[in-house]
Amino acid sequence: MKVKAAVLEQLNTPLIIEEIELDEPKDKEVLVKIAAIGMCHSDIHCIKGDLSVPLPIVLGHEAAGTVEKAGSSVTGLQPGDKVVVTVAPYCGQCPACMMGVPSSCEMDPQTAMLMGTLADGTKRLKRQNGDELNHFMAQSSFAEYAVVERSATVKVRDDAPLDVVCMLGCGASTGIGAVINKARVQAGKSVAVFGCGGVGLAAIMAAKLVGAHPIVAVDLLDSKLEMARELGATHLVNASQEDPVTKIAVDCEGGVDYSFESIGSTDVMTQAFHSVYPRPGGMAVVLGLAPIGATFSIEAWRFMRELVVTGCTVGSIKPQLDIPRYVNLFMEGKLPLDRLVSARYSLEQINEAVKDTLEGKVMRGVITF
Ligand SMILES: [Zn+2]
Ligand SMILES: [Zn+2]
Repeated sequence: MKVKAAVLEQLNTPLIIEEIELDEPKDKEVLVKIAAIGMCHSDIHCIKGDLSVPLPIVLGHEAAGTVEKAGSSVTGLQPGDKVVVTVAPYCGQCPACMMGVPSSCEMDPQTAMLMGTLADGTKRLKRQNGDELNHFMAQSSFAEYAVVERSATVKVRDDAPLDVVCMLGCGASTGIGAVINKARVQAGKSVAVFGCGGVGLAAIMAAKLVGAHPIVAVDLLDSKLEMARELGATHLVNASQEDPVTKIAVDCEGGVDYSFESIGSTDVMTQAFHSVYPRPGGMAVVLGLAPIGATFSIEAWRFMRELVVTGCTVGSIKPQLDIPRYVNLFMEGKLPLDRLVSARYSLEQINEAVKDTLEGKVMRGVITF
C-alpha cells in the first residue's frame, strides 16, 4: 500500500515527506494506522549521526494508533483496537525475557533495532522507484501506517487519548518504569532527576506518585525546571549556575537515596552517581543513551558503601502488563502525561518538531495524523 512517510536521506538534512510503498504484515505482525507519534531524542541522535543507522531510513519509534490488519498467527488483537507501539519488541524465549526483563530481549527483535530491518530481519518499506528503505527500531512510525511485530503492540483502553499515551511507547515508560519498576522507590525516599525532558519529567511525576521526598530536578533551562516543579519537584538546580552534586548534598542531608540520569551525558552520569548518599541501598539509575564507546569515571570508594549504579532500558517494563497500568494511572489523573505534550505538529511540519526538540523549546513534540 502507498503511505506518506518522512524519510531521512542524509545526516543533518531535513526529513523528506514522500509517498512510499509499505508491504503487508506477515504472520506475527500487525499493520497499525498511526494516530500520533512522539519525537524522541533517539530520532534526533540518528539525524545528527550520534546514533549510527543505515540510510535512507524512516525514523519514528514512539507511536500509537489503531490496528488495521493483524497477521494470521496474531492473537488478542482485532482491527480497530487501539494500541501503543513500543520501542521494545521481544521474543519471550531468551534468558532476558524469561528473567522477566523483555526490554533487554537478547534475540532478533533487539538486534534488528538499529540494523534497518523489522524484528524478523527483513524490510517492508520501498520507494516508488523500488529502492529499499530502512526501518528504525523495528518500527518506522513517522508514517501514516507501520508494520510492526505483535510483541511491540500493546492494546490500550478505548477512551485513552492516543496523542498522549503514544509517549508510553518509549520516553514516558522509560521515566516512569525507572522509578516504579527498576528502583522501586518507596514513600519518603529522596530522589534526584538529572535532565527535565520528557523522560526526566515522567520520572518526576512517578516519584511524586510513589511519595518520594524530597524530589530534586536538575537541568540547564529554567523553563524546564519550572515545569519540573509543577509536576512534583520540591528542589530545583540549574546546573549551568551551580554544581548539582554540591547543591544536592547541601539540600538533601548529604545526598539522595536514588538518582536518575535521563540525558545520555557521561559527565552527568558521574554527577548522578556522586549525588547518591553513600549508604547501602543507594542507587544511580542511567536511562540516557550515551554514544557507543563513551566511558565515565566515578569515585570507587563509594562502592565500599554498597552503592549501586545500574542501567535501565525502557523503564525495565513488561509492556503488556505495565503500559495498560500507566494508562489507567493517567486516566485517573495520577500521572499527568498530557502535561508533557507541549506542541503538536502535522507530518508536513515534522522538521519544525525536530528543530524545536533540538533547541529544547518543547518537552515532547507529538506528530498527529
Ligand atoms: Zn525513544
Ligand atoms: Zn527475548
